[in-house]
Amino acid sequence: MKIYDVIIVGGGPAGCAAALELADKAAVLLLEKFKFPRYKACGGGVTPLVSTLLPFTLADTCDTYSTRAIIKYKLDGTEFVVTSEKPFLYFYRRDRFDNMLFEFAKKAVDVIEGMSVSDIIEDRDNFKIITDSESYRGKYVIIAAGANFKIIRKLFPENIYLNYSASEIEYFTNETDNISKTPVFYLGYPSNGYSWYFPKKNGYSRGGGVFGKSKVDLEIFNALRIQPLSEQRDHRFQQSNWTIPILKSGTTRRKNIFLCGDAAGLADPLTGEGIRFALISGKRTAQLILSELQGVRTDKLFGEIYQDIREENRLAFLLAKYFFGHSQLMSFLMKTMGNELSQSYLNLVTGKTNYYKLLKNHKNYFKILRKSITYFYKKSLNSIC
Ligand SMILES: Cc1cc2nc3c(=O)[nH]c(=O)nc-3n(C[C@H](O)[C@H](O)[C@H](O)COP(=O)(O)OP(=O)(O)OC[C@H]3O[C@@H](n4cnc5c(N)ncnc54)[C@H](O)[C@@H]3O)c2cc1C
Repeated sequence: MKIYDVIIVGGGPAGCAAALELADKAAVLLLEKFKFPRYKACGGGVTPLVSTLLPFTLADTCDTYSTRAIIKYKLDGTEFVVTSEKPFLYFYRRDRFDNMLFEFAKKAVDVIEGMSVSDIIEDRDNFKIITDSESYRGKYVIIAAGANFKIIRKLFPENIYLNYSASEIEYFTNETDNISKTPVFYLGYPSNGYSWYFPKKNGYSRGGGVFGKSKVDLEIFNALRIQPLSEQRDHRFQQSNWTIPILKSGTTRRKNIFLCGDAAGLADPLTGEGIRFALISGKRTAQLILSELQGVRTDKLFGEIYQDIREENRLAFLLAKYFFGHSQLMSFLMKTMGNELSQSYLNLVTGKTNYYKLLKNHKNYFKILRKSITYFYKKSLNSIC
């Protein structure tokens, strides 16, 4: 039986990014459960920060893009409009985005679609990958199988993930001229999370995520952005509840098995952005494996190849916990600093700032303190009068 250098489980952004990095430099097999194109629950909002990680350009391939967004507190709250000179979000239906990447991966490495991996067993000095019908051998394994791959629990029993519940519904319409091209974010709707409206070429999608243990009730999306359209829901997916896993503690490597993307729990806990981190992690893991295949000892190098992402995620988690977990605080901040917060969000997704810089900036705390004093002073004056 052929022994591959690397077997990749999963052909989403993380798996394809790894495949493209390894192409021509190692013997690689990618196993994907579904035949592509396949549906993936996702807003399909892609930030310009991923442009250097893709084999195609965002501007030429996206459904649509935005230089303007509306950020609202709850459904009826004040509206904050943020604008940027360059597009700050590109929108795709994920089946098409993933299929474009997958086509590149198919040209670069061996790929088998419709092949579900059911177990990974260490066997002598390599790994046996068991599928429903075949088994394969590899020296390295990259698990890029998304949020629900059960074998992770067996291989990384100490890993603790926090699971966000996130859902979305895709809508299709022929009345494309009437579709608003401005994305809308509703913070605090539902109360412990957020929801969004994202435009697409032939329709739009609505979705949301909640922080904590509850699930997103798909009916809440009916209240978002009333469109004057004879819209058609994609009923195949409307009852789906998905998770965005965030790795709280644990590791992303065990011997020669690596976790990437959602399997490694790398999505941003505050914004739910995961595509960028899936692409980065696939690429970095592949580079590390290539070094090891060339005989470079990487024990030191590995340490934690996602250290920077996980540190940022820790800060994002803290912010999400306080922001979404305390509705009064969220309401106060949106009322007093809605503009600044909306602008910070824009700066985060375009890479002008990051969580560390945001939290390190003492001026931000003073601003909050000043605003709180003014706010509560006015409130107490009103109650006296
Ligand atoms: C509702 C929702 C909205 C989101 N919105 C956004 C957004 O707007 N922007 C953003 O950046 N991120 C968003 N995310 C997060 C983003 O979707 C994920 O972080 C990203 O898809 C992770 O990529 P991945 O390659 O790790 O996993 P996936 O994209 O899940 O790919 C995993 C692949 O592995 C395959 N697979 C699974 N099991 C097996 C198996 N046993 N054998 C073989 N193959 C297998 C799957 O079929 C799939 O193709 C959203 C997530 C959700 C749930």
